Amino acid sequence: MKDLSLYLHIPYCVKKCLYCDFLSFPAAEQGCGMDEYTDLLCREIELSAAEYKEYQVLSIFFGGGTPTLLPQGAVAGIMETIRRNYRVAEDAEITMEMNPETARKEKIKEYITCGINRMSIGLQSTEDEELERIGRIHDYRTFLEAYDLVRNAGFRSVNIDLMAALPGQSVESYRRTLERAVRLKPEHISAYSLILEEGTPLYERRAAYAFPSEEEDRAMYELTGDLLASCGYHRYEISNYALEGFECRHNKVYWQRGNYAGFGLGASSMVENVRWTNPADMETYRLYAPDRHPLTLHEQMEEYMFLGLRMMRGVDVRRFADEFGAPMDTVYGGVIDKMCGLGLLEREDGAVRLTGRGIDISNYVMAQFLFDETE
Ligand code: SF4
Repeated sequence: MKDLSLYLHIPYCVKKCLYCDFLSFPAAEQGCGMDEYTDLLCREIELSAAEYKEYQVLSIFFGGGTPTLLPQGAVAGIMETIRRNYRVAEDAEITMEMNPETARKEKIKEYITCGINRMSIGLQSTEDEELERIGRIHDYRTFLEAYDLVRNAGFRSVNIDLMAALPGQSVESYRRTLERAVRLKPEHISAYSLILEEGTPLYERRAAYAFPSEEEDRAMYELTGDLLASCGYHRYEISNYALEGFECRHNKVYWQRGNYAGFGLGASSMVENVRWTNPADMETYRLYAPDRHPLTLHEQMEEYMFLGLRMMRGVDVRRFADEFGAPMDTVYGGVIDKMCGLGLLEREDGAVRLTGRGIDISNYVMAQFLFDETE
């Protein structure tokens, strides 16, 4: 049996956050209600099943968007469709993303009953003014209520999402956010820096806000690592921290280039080095036939390097040779030596990994592994 992960994209949100460029929209805007969307999703899950007879599902992830916005019973229906059509491992990790404002006791009960065993809650900040400035629909108090509901329902694996470099955020206010988050003892914390994406309202209004300086941004980044490490969270990926045994299995599949099938609007898949993305507009998705793109050998190698380097343990030299039939040094020896010479990469225990300095400018380091296809 081969391994497979499933991603379900739920593109609905109550209201768009000001920094968000994910594929999501308020329910009324796309002319496709949530009930109809759930049916389309289940149809896609069913129609695809024949391709995955040889696979066992090790993780499932409901993302978005705000999957907790789906009406009562929809998630249970989707899970039932998956179990009827796929071989889901008994200990599969099954995650649901939640916006605290949408937490409802009855729905959380439904999630745990249908086998969801990991909740990922978007907090971002414990400072209400910061939340308001980025257009989040919840405050800190609402988050605490949601967290309690989730814990009281019996969830034993919870992630909290945090954000640094927010407008008006100071190193001290970010420290408060981190400290309050760890006091709740979630098993996992994701801490990303805000990226101002062109076209978002926050980007358009950027001149009106005071963003943290580069030094403050850096101080927040270092504080994240230090404070979380002192509370027992180890960093296993550039922006992800976990208590022992709670690394996110699903996200590791992306970084390690495992097989994943994405269902729903705009969802991406990669199975056996063939990649495809579902249509991002509802009309085309309704009629959907996937356009599949087999990755070239160079694309596979590039992905192996720049996804693998996101992980703190780095890329495994032997696995590279097994997968591509060529030693890593034959393909990338020059780049690796150069980056090691600059103190941005290191070779250790049969792996190549980013150093502390390399993590700071990881995008630059990873770009070195792209092939120049014009040569
Ligand atoms: S809740 Fe998440 S997906 Fe929805 S608008 Fe906000 S950031 Fe985007």
